[in-house]
Amino acid sequence: MKSIVLASGNPGKKKEIEELLEPFGTRVVTQSELGITEAEEPYETFFENALAKARHAAFATRLPALADDSGICVDALGGAPGVHSARYAGEPRSDARNNEKLLFELKNESNRAAHYVCVLVLVRGPGDTDPLVAQAEWHGEIAHSPRGTNGFGYDPYFLVPGLGKTAAELAPEYKNRLSHRGQALAKLLELLKIA
Ligand code: IMP
Repeated sequence: MKSIVLASGNPGKKKEIEELLEPFGTRVVTQSELGITEAEEPYETFFENALAKARHAAFATRLPALADDSGICVDALGGAPGVHSARYAGEPRSDARNNEKLLFELKNESNRAAHYVCVLVLVRGPGDTDPLVAQAEWHGEIAHSPRGTNGFGYDPYFLVPGLGKTAAELAPEYKNRLSHRGQALAKLLELLKIA
């Protein structure tokens, strides 16, 4: 695939997916760059939201469309914020306010275990009745204070086990190798090879 539309306007996700697809010569254009509005994400599962986003982008552009639905699930909060990660602290979306709320909710918690989830759905065109789906998780812990300036979203608070660093302290290529998004994309590329 020479070009795919990414069913997102999130610049952090675009950068990561672009870097991951660069070796294959695939150009990534976001739906917001093409003037396409965001799809509704009304569902309580990452998979349903990703499928809705991919279909919306493919119908609007007639191009193959890749959607990522992702978020962070915190054990002590029963899996919250989960699918609501982007808008955890409400509208307008703000990483700073989301992180502030997460720390507040965890202030008396000793169990800081959390994991990122990423579900990728690729539809090869608007009529694709057999979408490719790949999912991965990245397990870690929520730090008490932020560290690092790379990445986006919850990364300054996401401690990577064994490294003593947050995701925001990792070089982008290294984050891509370990992360939920990197692992899900590796799985998707395997599926594409056999599709
Ligand atoms: P979505 O665009 O509806 O899938 O929302 C994803 C949200 O989950 C983002 O806005 C972030 O808050 C969070 N998230 C997902 N992946 C990452 C990551 O790799 N780093 C930090 N936050 C992430």
